[in-house]
Amino acid sequence: MPEKCKNRERLVAAGSSDIPALPVGAVRGLLCFRCFSPSDKIMKCAGCKRAGYCSKECQKLDWSVVHKKQCKILTGVNKQEEDNYRKARTWNEYSGELQRYVREVKATSTDDNLWFIIQAQPYCAVCRRSAIQLSTRKTLLNRCDECQLIFTCTDCSSKQSHPPSVCSNYQIHSQIEQFRIEFFEDTEKATPVNCTATPRTTYKPLSEATNGWFDYYVDISDKTSIRSAIKPDFSGLTDLVYQLGEKADQEQEERRRMFLLLSTDILTMPLTIISALEDISWITPKPSPSPTRELSIHLIGATGREFHALSTFEEILHLIPDIKTLHITAAGPLSWRGEPDEALQLPYMPPTELACCPACTSSNRKRYIASWRGLYHDFVSTSVYRKPDLLVLFNSGCVDGDDAESSWAPTIRGIVESDVPALFTTYNAEEAEHERYMFGRLDAKFLVEPAVNRWRGLVPVPEFLDEEFGVWRQNYYRYVICGKER
Ligand SMILES: [Zn+2]
Ligand SMILES: [Zn+2]
Ligand SMILES: [Zn+2]
Ligand SMILES: [Zn+2]
Ligand SMILES: [Zn+2]
Repeated sequence: MPEKCKNRERLVAAGSSDIPALPVGAVRGLLCFRCFSPSDKIMKCAGCKRAGYCSKECQKLDWSVVHKKQCKILTGVNKQEEDNYRKARTWNEYSGELQRYVREVKATSTDDNLWFIIQAQPYCAVCRRSAIQLSTRKTLLNRCDECQLIFTCTDCSSKQSHPPSVCSNYQIHSQIEQFRIEFFEDTEKATPVNCTATPRTTYKPLSEATNGWFDYYVDISDKTSIRSAIKPDFSGLTDLVYQLGEKADQEQEERRRMFLLLSTDILTMPLTIISALEDISWITPKPSPSPTRELSIHLIGATGREFHALSTFEEILHLIPDIKTLHITAAGPLSWRGEPDEALQLPYMPPTELACCPACTSSNRKRYIASWRGLYHDFVSTSVYRKPDLLVLFNSGCVDGDDAESSWAPTIRGIVESDVPALFTTYNAEEAEHERYMFGRLDAKFLVEPAVNRWRGLVPVPEFLDEEFGVWRQNYYRYVICGKER
């Protein structure tokens, strides 16, 4: 096993959850399933013909840790693929079959990687025969030269399989995932926290940052030095760097670009919140000379993702000079556990002070985190509930999610019946459209209609079950509601 993945093995064994997930590149035959290293000579597992490894050592390790169980289930899926063989499948037929396999697997196994291996399987993007189906036939699968992740079989080679925009999103995705794996080896963190180092003394509206993240980094945060090195659309390096730079400089600039792109996947949380505070006019244009205000936010449906990102919420203090105290309450069945208050007999962890940077500490600014591990509408009826300034539901899936019907309905009704503004985000356009429809039926008042979020995460993630070549992003779409229309 390469030296560089020893770190990851140690953290996986220790039960860390902030680790890079199995990359699409592994499932599509470019990277080792265990160490995620790229290799031209990936050896496929003889049992399932799906997992692939750079070395015998990685294969042995993976077998003893996870693959022994996976292999048996995948072999069963392969049998079904063979029974379902047709010369060509429509997208709906293909994705329908995948969804069925995934449902069956989810019913018997809690291994997230298993369903990912199935849904991201290599297949011809024209006739939609899978690598498994073609493995016993004479037809071969050829990789796209550009993105390396989409295939066309030799029978379909004369047809165009995917549009350039899809090809480019897949390329960006694998570049960033590759960077994430290296970043993790260096820092033991899968997602970088990249806040503004020095708290601002004046407020600069996010609505004026017309170039989005570029303007944020350069004008609002304190990364002015990137102005000369990175293009406003983050598409690549400036010509200047190419002309003047040595190869090492180019590589360094490229790493910096990847770092900035990957950082947006976490920074999207505080920035999307701040832009909603602008929408609801919570932020006053002329702040008082010293911070005096309190801001209280409830994160509904919070999970480990928000937990790993806790330090990034300090960005709210750093961009809004007015705030003296920031209160965050995370609520949801998957919200993290803390020390519950024994006397209350509730799944409630009372506010705990979190450390701030030296600048915030010296000006006596504070931030607190509290947690409710349960459904939000149950929390609202307790004595520990205090009305917040803003509700935040990141990528809630409150209409399309797995447990949407059962757990969201009372919470959603409660939100519409209250007069607290609520910020919602979704992974893609379709979810935003479904949620718009549902809230329309509930007569909710839209302060901001669903639209692409300027502060979405910039990492495109391929989606394999719904829309063909669909891509989702963190907080891709956003909208804000407040109470009822009449
Ligand atoms: Zn390996
Ligand atoms: Zn196998
Ligand atoms: Zn084909
Ligand atoms: Zn391509
Ligand atoms: Zn600070």
